[in-house]
Amino acid sequence: MAILLTTAGPAVAPTYGEDAADLILEHGVFHPVATPQPVTGSLAVRDGVIVYLGADAGAAAFAGPDTERVELAGRAVTPGLIDAHSHLLGLGTALQQVDLVGTESYAEVVRRSAEAAAELPAGAWVQGRGWDQNDWTEKDFPRHGPLSAAVPDHPVWLSRVDGHAALLNQRAMDELGLGAATPDPPGGRFLRDADGRPTGVLVDNAMDVVRGKIPPPSAELRAQRLRLAAEHCLARGLTTVTDMGVSAVGLAAYDALAAAGELPIRAALFLTDDDALLAHWFAAGPRIDPTGRLTVRGVKLYADGALGSRGAALVEPYSDDAGNLGLLVTSEDHMREVAEGARQAGFQVGVHAIGDRGNLVALDALQAALPAPPAGAELRWRIEHAQVMRLDDVQRMARLGLIASMQPTHATSDMPWAGDRVGARRLGGAYAWRKVLDAGGRLALGSDFPVERAAPVLGLYAAVTRQDLDGQPPGGWLPGERLSRAEALRGFTLDAAYSLFLDSLVGSLEVGKRADLVVWDRDPMQVPAADVPSLQADLTLVDGKVVHRRRSTP
Ligand SMILES: [Zn+2]
Repeated sequence: MAILLTTAGPAVAPTYGEDAADLILEHGVFHPVATPQPVTGSLAVRDGVIVYLGADAGAAAFAGPDTERVELAGRAVTPGLIDAHSHLLGLGTALQQVDLVGTESYAEVVRRSAEAAAELPAGAWVQGRGWDQNDWTEKDFPRHGPLSAAVPDHPVWLSRVDGHAALLNQRAMDELGLGAATPDPPGGRFLRDADGRPTGVLVDNAMDVVRGKIPPPSAELRAQRLRLAAEHCLARGLTTVTDMGVSAVGLAAYDALAAAGELPIRAALFLTDDDALLAHWFAAGPRIDPTGRLTVRGVKLYADGALGSRGAALVEPYSDDAGNLGLLVTSEDHMREVAEGARQAGFQVGVHAIGDRGNLVALDALQAALPAPPAGAELRWRIEHAQVMRLDDVQRMARLGLIASMQPTHATSDMPWAGDRVGARRLGGAYAWRKVLDAGGRLALGSDFPVERAAPVLGLYAAVTRQDLDGQPPGGWLPGERLSRAEALRGFTLDAAYSLFLDSLVGSLEVGKRADLVVWDRDPMQVPAADVPSLQADLTLVDGKVVHRRRSTP
């Protein structure tokens, strides 16, 4: 069985001088990642590929009459950042949700909903969350009238901040068949006016009449969400993103966008664990685009749940919930069988594993399906999150060549309560990036957006400080696990690319690689750590094309 182990390298060997470059970035400081020392000078791009990186003088040979030249004036350039574990379509969906947290009046809720509706095709559902009438001068529950008048052509569903009530407009009530004759369900209530007509507010179980009845988004809406999410990422310096767990309908949206040439970002997709979907793809084989714009060669599995809700599977009970061991959500046999199928069909496997038992079982399953190292390592299988591990298993993960796909901002989000869940001893193997590297393992970094924000500078900051944005705790949480600036950048570039089989194309600034890069307003490798979260991407390039330009930048 032939397995494609790497994506194709550059199709043409770089030539010097004979053909002019399309673009030269000059007078900059380039962080190549592939080599430790920065390069002061210029970078030239032809046909989307880096053809020169070196002193400014050497770039002159690449300048022709049509070459665009960008003056960097000493600004820093890194490879485009890569999020090794994210959910691009999920981000698009989240970005389209109307955020109503902190609204100070019903009028503001109506205004924001109308603005969101204006961005959507007529008939598409407007969904929002976060209103709280206790924050308004008028503290009664709202009535649908003003909302229905402002948004007549889209059904609207707005959850209250606590998720226990929601407001609908008239169009939504019409589509759901809600009227004066609709009885209250057990455990729920439709608020009504003096004539018994629903006011639009649904309480508790009455919300079930809506759930499951909102039709799935149209292909057009999905494509719009992908574009929205891609633009959001590009503006923050991400040039490659992942979608960890894509269904058939999600794939269709990516396909349509890519076929139309409208996918502005590089995307690597992992298939969701669905029998029919996997049977189809395992028969067809991975999708490996020679330019690496859209890749489908991974399968996402789940070993267990999450730590916050005590669904992560632990070897010993939760420290703050005696007797609770969490849950395995997939059997070891199933994980092993899917992994074997993936191996035969040339796919990667990424297993979500949070608790130490989740990780233990995931490692057992993958180990059983892997050929012995080093052949096993070449499959580039991954453990997603690798969040709380027994120290033996950190070693085993590295020995098997499994990639630890970890999210620095998870550590800083979870640090206020993670110790309560697992206790001091198990914290030794929690969010243990340094131990992964020390064991000889490889770290691919990401954010899990939209669970965390799609801003890689926040990941870089968390990785090097283990602090929240207020600089707490002093010195960092479990500070022995902090990464150096260079290690963090490598995790968000070259090693993330490796974890997606994209390292021959992107992830570093090298002649022959595709020109995915970011020009920063300040140098990410030089600014004080506290300034890393406020770094701005002035310019973002994918395949040598400017796909984001910050307003008021040259
Ligand atoms: Zn995820």
